[in-house]
Amino acid sequence: MAGYVFFLKHVLVVSLAMNMGLIWKISYEDDETLASSWGSMLHFYGCCFNGDKNKIIQEVHDGLEESALINLDHGDPTMYENFWKQNGEQTKVVTSSWQHISYFSDIKNVCWFLEPGLVTAITRLHKVVGNAVMEGRHIVVGTGSSQLYQAALYALSPPNGSGPMNVVSAAPFYSSYPLMTDYLKSGLHKWAGDAYAFNKEEPYIELVTSPNNPDGFTRQEVVKGDKGILIHDLAYYWPQYTPILLPADYDIMLFTVSKSTGHAGSRIGWAIVKDREIAKKMTTFIEINTIGVSKDSQIRAAKVLQAVSETNFFDYSHKLMADRWKRIREAVNKTAHFSLPSFPQQTCSFSGRTFGQLPAFAWLKCEGEVDDCESFLRQHKILTRGGKQFGASMKYVRVSMLSRESEFKVLTERLPTIRS
Ligand code: PMP
Repeated sequence: MAGYVFFLKHVLVVSLAMNMGLIWKISYEDDETLASSWGSMLHFYGCCFNGDKNKIIQEVHDGLEESALINLDHGDPTMYENFWKQNGEQTKVVTSSWQHISYFSDIKNVCWFLEPGLVTAITRLHKVVGNAVMEGRHIVVGTGSSQLYQAALYALSPPNGSGPMNVVSAAPFYSSYPLMTDYLKSGLHKWAGDAYAFNKEEPYIELVTSPNNPDGFTRQEVVKGDKGILIHDLAYYWPQYTPILLPADYDIMLFTVSKSTGHAGSRIGWAIVKDREIAKKMTTFIEINTIGVSKDSQIRAAKVLQAVSETNFFDYSHKLMADRWKRIREAVNKTAHFSLPSFPQQTCSFSGRTFGQLPAFAWLKCEGEVDDCESFLRQHKILTRGGKQFGASMKYVRVSMLSRESEFKVLTERLPTIRS
């Protein structure tokens, strides 16, 4: 018996050690994922990982001390939590175990796993906001717009091309594009870098992100060739971030609840696609990849999008963004160490307000001698994402503007005090 208990203990210890090793590997080897920034955070705390990561995260969220380490590396949209707490009843979704069992949602639709309720909510919201043309388009739902990005690459890259399709985006570009394009080392497509530098006489896909992540500017395509296909990533084309000027009218447009309503954890994105064959191929990708998209998540997203159409969400979120940008600009103006981009004022057709961009990220520049702004801020316990990951200079960092108030407050108080 004693031998048996010893054996069990031994197995437990070995298994724990293996899991720890795995967690450690994920946290420390992956440069881009959310885990990596928490990994470096644990490192910063100088603690050995004891399996209670949640406790550390909780401590960081609650009662932040003036000297606390703040993680503004990723764009986790927790800023919207308070609004949804106040509207909790209206957006509650109750699901019974017998519901949403089937793989299928609407077999007549090109995208057969797309919930009809989500179609209604998406169509209505774009109509209310006036940020995308919907008539005669196909909607494809994805597990986040990240999956739709990959589905679009699959659909647009010819299967029998002479080589992998070039994929470009103007620097500074969203840091996940190169990773998502190349991580499977597909023969279909390859990351070809900054669109400004692309001069090959070859077919290409250009990603146009507008407003742009990381710098917040409105964008148009850059490559002047005639062999290009465009994907418009409009994750931030919502009235809390930018004046809405026109309903976007492009061949492939990507949207996501992650940045529109802040429900990043639901993992729901949608593509609005002009061409039926492209929509079909994107659907095939998702079919092979994940056999559809969670119905529970789609129904939750539909409820939330419906509420956005019926509440003052955009008024609330716009005021919040405007307040945060005012505060970060005031903080930066108190020091010569940093600078921020400025944006032209335009009138929003949705709200009638005239304002300059209020991006989800601050594209902060370290002025003067500092060459590596990310490391510099890290020394001051502010975790950000360095310019290099966006194909830009290390004098820049991307700072999330979407954190909880406690973290944002520490940021604006700490920036003016930084000397060297
Ligand atoms: N595109 C851009 C420009 C983004 O910033 C993000 C999120 N950071 C995404 C796509 C991915 O969003 P999702 O959570 O829907 O996968």
